[in-house]
Amino acid sequence: MQNVRRKDTAPELAVRQALHALGLRFRLTSKVIPGKPDIVLPRHKVIIQVHGCFWHGHVGCSKASIPVNNRDTWTKKIQANRERDARRQALIESLGWSVHTVWECEVRDSATLLKTLKRDLRRLGIPKVATAT
Ligand SMILES: [Zn+2]
Repeated sequence: MQNVRRKDTAPELAVRQALHALGLRFRLTSKVIPGKPDIVLPRHKVIIQVHGCFWHGHVGCSKASIPVNNRDTWTKKIQANRERDARRQALIESLGWSVHTVWECEVRDSATLLKTLKRDLRRLGIPKVATAT
């Protein structure tokens, strides 16, 4: 099985582009955060993770439907991923950081992505996002 985490997936690049458009500075690595965070906003202590809907089991998403063949195996595999994600999120939050998840299905339309990101980042206490044109 392929590693779930690949570098520079198209959805990650789309999110990075949107952050640029919003005038936010980010990094792709952090010394304080364990593992490999997708996107780090050091000033705001926010980690943005970009998750594939299928592998991370996006609840209620059509891209996350489990194949009929080997349903049990898939269900277990994805459940394990979800549990790992939750543990990781708890760990990051215990360090005083926030975790925001962007799902692959939210990235397809760049205008919608910008709008959603802006709203969600405000909610995380990052009010100073540039107005995207
Ligand atoms: Zn989804």
